[in-house]
Amino acid sequence: MSIFDRLFGTSRLVDRPALPAPSTTNPMATQVRRTPWPGGTGRAVGTPIQPSVVYGAESPDALDAIYEGREEGFTYAREAHPNAALLAQKIDAMEGLSGGMIMGSGMAAVSAALMGILKQGDHVIGADRLYGRSLRMMSEELPRMGIATTLADPTDVEALRAAIRPETRMILIEVVSNPTLRIADLKGIAKIAKEAGILLAVDNTFTTPRAVRARDFGADIVIHSVTKLLAGHSDATLGYVGATDSALMDRMRVFAVTLGLTPSPFDCWLAERGLYSFDLRYDRAEENAAKLAAHIDGLPGVTRVIYPGRADHPDHERARDLLKGRFGNMVTFEIAGGRDAANRLVRAARNIAFAPTLGDVGTTISHPATSSHRALSPEDREAKGLGEGTFRVSVGVEPAQLLCSEFETAIRSAANG
Ligand SMILES: *Cc1c(COP(=O)(O)O)cnc(C)c1O
Repeated sequence: MSIFDRLFGTSRLVDRPALPAPSTTNPMATQVRRTPWPGGTGRAVGTPIQPSVVYGAESPDALDAIYEGREEGFTYAREAHPNAALLAQKIDAMEGLSGGMIMGSGMAAVSAALMGILKQGDHVIGADRLYGRSLRMMSEELPRMGIATTLADPTDVEALRAAIRPETRMILIEVVSNPTLRIADLKGIAKIAKEAGILLAVDNTFTTPRAVRARDFGADIVIHSVTKLLAGHSDATLGYVGATDSALMDRMRVFAVTLGLTPSPFDCWLAERGLYSFDLRYDRAEENAAKLAAHIDGLPGVTRVIYPGRADHPDHERARDLLKGRFGNMVTFEIAGGRDAANRLVRAARNIAFAPTLGDVGTTISHPATSSHRALSPEDREAKGLGEGTFRVSVGVEPAQLLCSEFETAIRSAANG
């Protein structure tokens, strides 16, 4: 039986009786009765959406079999539903994992990995340049629950090693950091984690399995904000978490179901639809990113261009080794002229969405100083190499020539203020 049949029961529905004839004496009987979708000789090519919250079982015995994992089936949508299961299986396959789970957001996935597994008294080491909300989880929520946290530089394996304590249980990193696109020493970190018996969790949102299959490098837990590149159209908010160990996965699943971190069927349907074109989108966006980075370098007022594929990137060699030439779709650059020039650039880039997200089919630009890093003081931002002139570009799939000329126009307008 195909996954399609198992998840949506299409073949069984075909055998069910068609819609009962409307009752003339009691119209409500027709109106409110649940009716199986009529089958036919054809079959839908598109994935159906199954919004049902509850699933009827044949008998208490059958329900037992589902809860005990002897039979596949669904009971209640907060626990699992077909559209999430289908999406999870696809991302599992991409990441080389099995039994992963879709969550209501990327942060729900981060929460499940941290709070679902760690307990009071544990210690966790996070990369010091994690996604903003993940950093907040480290600085506020985990300590509030008695879980100690330390932040360390993920490009410096010795800094991470120095942060390890006897009670350290997990390390959480991203392979490519936002927005300076530094590359974590994934191999080195995996090695020290393994030696010390510490779980390694990798948020693979920026890199995606197209560039890095984190489990191949020794990650125990893989996290995604599916919202970004995987779904790819800025219309679904979702996360994914998978683990190499089924007991860890069960722990995260129980936590997510208990806290209600589970996703909506419609979002899962949109994301699953997005996956069909994921490889094409990624490849095209990556190609565009390399071209854009080369094009804007040397334009008036451009003081820095950051792209891991460039020889002048501080982690270029590591990127070549880890990412195998998949340098991604993110480009960061800096212009002179402070906030005024930044405002001029955004206003002049009329066709490019100025929006704090990434991974959309269309190119978006963000300004870390007023979005992802606005909570930092200007001094702390400077220390991280982020100024008023720093822009992060999530490159999309537009024709490269168009993109290059739009950015050139915007950058020249900013310089000509
Ligand atoms: C966006 C993002 C998240 C959070 O994902 P949401 O779907 O917005 O909750 C986590 N990690 C990284 C690296 C992200 O870019």
